[in-house]
Amino acid sequence: MKGDSVSLLQQLIQAKSVTPVDDGCQRILQDRLTALGFTIYPLTFGPVQNFYARLGAQSPNLCMAGHTDVVPTGPESQWSLPPFAGEIRDERIYGRGACDMKGGLAAMVAAVERFLQQSPTFPGSISFLVTGDEEADAVDGTVKVVEWLAQRGEKLDYCLLSEPTGQSMAGDCVKNGRRGSVNGTLTIFGKQGHVAHPHLADNPIHKAMPILDRLARLPLDEGNAHFPPSCLQLTSLKAGAGATNVIPALVEVAFNIRFCTENTPQSLETLVRQTLDASGAQYQLEMKTSALPFLAPTGALLANVERAILQETGQKPHLSTSGGTSDARFIAPYCPQTLELGVTNNSAHHVDEYVTLDDLDRLTRIYTSILKNIFLPV
Ligand SMILES: [Zn+2]
Repeated sequence: MKGDSVSLLQQLIQAKSVTPVDDGCQRILQDRLTALGFTIYPLTFGPVQNFYARLGAQSPNLCMAGHTDVVPTGPESQWSLPPFAGEIRDERIYGRGACDMKGGLAAMVAAVERFLQQSPTFPGSISFLVTGDEEADAVDGTVKVVEWLAQRGEKLDYCLLSEPTGQSMAGDCVKNGRRGSVNGTLTIFGKQGHVAHPHLADNPIHKAMPILDRLARLPLDEGNAHFPPSCLQLTSLKAGAGATNVIPALVEVAFNIRFCTENTPQSLETLVRQTLDASGAQYQLEMKTSALPFLAPTGALLANVERAILQETGQKPHLSTSGGTSDARFIAPYCPQTLELGVTNNSAHHVDEYVTLDDLDRLTRIYTSILKNIFLPV
């Protein structure tokens, strides 16, 4: 039924789209959008199905984005209800993906249906960017779709991503940016030898300890109004030659830095190298960027989202950049006004993942109001 996010979510959960398999999940969305007049562009990259869909030729183009893939269930015997049934119990819809993020996608499609029932013509375009590759490697999904959009000259003016962002209810929190992430691998060299003759060896573990202590305490920045201070965490430490009487030749270290807009991958590498150079140790360092930080500028999208949430919940949302990375990192460089707004996130990836009927309805109403605010301002 048009405008009903509950039955649509149940259908989506019944497709076993465990990343990167699709199992007919995107087809369900495509059929609903085709019925509304959207043009569908299926985009398969490697083993991953994605699609872009658009209704209208005018600007502004509001893109609604999300992923249909879900994480594995874990032991199904631990689930109280089957994970791919979409059953309702105690005012909650249960199933893998109910929260992250088939609930958000169902609310988006239902909201577009409700909006078009009231306003079949409107000045602008609505599009969908749906990927099946967010929960795994994220290499054949949004990042490639965005390249395809750029090649076609397809412009996104605003983008809403339906990641679950709610803290205690949908609409209480909007993500307006995310931290970046770099991974470092560091080798500190010494000289192998016999533990009984340390003067003939050079112990790299002894050398590494004060260096790692300095790295772990290294002040990277102080953060800013939108982000906490950037933070380096050591994630792996390996040494040893396999015998108790050998001083090893080297120590291998891995670390990750979650960083804010006060730093860049280059400035972080400079800070790390300065610390290493000052130690005098012989080392090798490689740092790889897995995500750049971004912050959505204040603009029409944020204003309309805040207004819609106030209209539907009576409260203004809290803006946050916390949490891990999301596909917004690929969209934001192409469409700066990108925000994340979805259902309450407390059961994402859990056994017995669910969304409450109340939250799903609230999110559907908020999305409908956002569409009205953007396209039919009063
Ligand atoms: Zn997700």
